[in-house]
Amino acid sequence: PQTYRGRRVVVLGLAKSGVSVAKVFHSYGAAVVVNDQKEREKCPEASELDALGISVICGGHPEDLITEETALLIKNPGIPYHVGPVRAAEALGIEIVTEVEVAYWLSPAPIIGITGSNGKTTTTTWTGKLMEAAGMKPIVAGNIGRPLCEAAEEATADQWVVAELSSFQLKGTSSFKPRVAVLLNLAETHLDYHGDMDDYVASKARLFANQTSEDTAVLNWDDPVCRRLAEMLQARLLPFAAYQRLDSGVYLEPPYPAAGEVDKAAVDSRQIVWKSDKGVIRIAAAAELGIPGRHNAANALAAVAAVLAAGADPKLLAEPLRSFRGVEHRLEYVGSFRGVAYYNDSKATNPTATTMSVGSLKEPIVLIAGGLDRGSDYMDLLPMFKSRVRAVVSIGQTREKISRVAELAGLTEVVTVDPLEDAESTLRQAVREAAALARPGDAVLLSPACASWDMFQSYEQRGRIFKESAHTL
Ligand code: ADP
Repeated sequence: PQTYRGRRVVVLGLAKSGVSVAKVFHSYGAAVVVNDQKEREKCPEASELDALGISVICGGHPEDLITEETALLIKNPGIPYHVGPVRAAEALGIEIVTEVEVAYWLSPAPIIGITGSNGKTTTTTWTGKLMEAAGMKPIVAGNIGRPLCEAAEEATADQWVVAELSSFQLKGTSSFKPRVAVLLNLAETHLDYHGDMDDYVASKARLFANQTSEDTAVLNWDDPVCRRLAEMLQARLLPFAAYQRLDSGVYLEPPYPAAGEVDKAAVDSRQIVWKSDKGVIRIAAAAELGIPGRHNAANALAAVAAVLAAGADPKLLAEPLRSFRGVEHRLEYVGSFRGVAYYNDSKATNPTATTMSVGSLKEPIVLIAGGLDRGSDYMDLLPMFKSRVRAVVSIGQTREKISRVAELAGLTEVVTVDPLEDAESTLRQAVREAAALARPGDAVLLSPACASWDMFQSYEQRGRIFKESAHTL
């Protein structure tokens, strides 16, 4: 950042990360201009920057924002590449990065970067817990809430920055080089933004692009797309797998059976093990993991691999693997009413995530699903509708599509809730419908398979309203 002293640096997008990155460049003496399309009333962060003497322009993108003198454009990850200022910067050959790149420039601590289509927050949080238990002083940040730049500025060289990274953030990196890079899985999501799967995979692959032989890449060996990326690595490879034994890596012993095969393992026998040239070390029993589901076992394997790559003592990992209780809005147990358990999985914003959650519960399921239509293939829900779901209540933009798939699956109890006066009333109505359909021994699961923005401000708001409605039953 010091190379930008006295030069024009434009920050596009006034979210938390925009504020944090603007402050960084201001402190290094750059001439920072922050710009957001939103009106000033909707930019509460603006006054903080005003007070520092940073120029803030709200309510549109001025024509002369990107000048020839502009040295750097830092783009909020959510802003698409086709907006005016980004195009203008591209035309002038100005460097365009996201806050993640800047955090890498700043951080004296090595970075563990964690990405994937599903499981990022869970795995990042768990990795932080494992590192704390191993005495490694992690700072957890990124897509997960706290801006990465803030964490990078606070970190000291003997710490670790554990960063949850989205594909949007990664797309805007150039020299970013995590000491440990974790790729959890790659499902077909975010296609509206990336255009096609190749662009999405290429964004995720940015995570490994600058790594060298002193770094480690942790890859999901059960995922064919992740496995293909191994060919391009310069880093050491540390694979993890839940469904197969590995020559070296972190895996389950015995592995889970493949789809369609019977599980021959005794219930409590499955172990997380680490195989290296030093032999096989047992880390913990899979049955003791703090959160249920095979996908969470996979997340645990990834977190274990990440911290082992960072040099953790394997003996210290069993306890935090057992005590972790998961993250809010991820298959979160809300309570029981008349023998029916209620689970809030509002964070499941694509069909793969919903399929995983449905598969993790033992009870017959009354599913509440639907939300923003991002063009996912809801037919992906068909197999689990057939095998695990008893009734479906659909809401939001995709309600008709989801109900149609449920009917195709042969479900007879399908309720489509059309929008009421506001989103909250609609979701409350859906919860009442679900409660009426559920029988003792069932679970009512909110796992929408869609993003929330057609009705709600965020998946957190959707989850909170669900929990309140469940409690008022
Ligand atoms: P992300 O941060 O990537 O959105 P989260 O950890 O917040 O992921 O989990 C969101 C949802 O995704 C969970 O509620 C669960 O349904 C699903 N999920 C979590 N881990 C995995 C995984 N490894 N594979 C597939 N789905 C997963």
